[in-house]
Amino acid sequence: MKNISDKFLRNKIENEKNDIYMEIENAKIKKANLLLDMGIMIYEKIRSEIIIDDSFDNICNEILEIDKLIYNNNLRIKTLEEKPQEIVCECGSVINFENRFCGTCGKKVEIEEDYLTECTRCDSLNEEDSVYCACCGIKL
Ligand SMILES: [Zn+2]
Ligand SMILES: [Zn+2]
Repeated sequence: MKNISDKFLRNKIENEKNDIYMEIENAKIKKANLLLDMGIMIYEKIRSEIIIDDSFDNICNEILEIDKLIYNNNLRIKTLEEKPQEIVCECGSVINFENRFCGTCGKKVEIEEDYLTECTRCDSLNEEDSVYCACCGIKL
């Protein structure tokens, strides 16, 4: 009878310990998420120069390099998914993007180029009317 109650007590202690560990783990995850949120808030303030502190420089530069990598890789995917551009001439013929003259009527192909703005921080090209850089997020 004594052995059974010993085992029961040990199990009870184990279970209680597991519950406590679980509570500690959950608290750590919650804390890590809060620190992440705070990090994002601080990063926003550094980017908009509300916080000026050069001890953040190294970590900010690393974040910028990661932003550029993500942005450029997204562009690469977009380029891979894009169909080759086709232009319809005034005469109704379809002209390939690479051609400079229409094969049917000989008219010169006018290509409208999008106007792009270069970001002063990360050098990425953005649509002219963009307010924020699509790569690093600063106000253009
Ligand atoms: Zn034509
Ligand atoms: Zn940028």
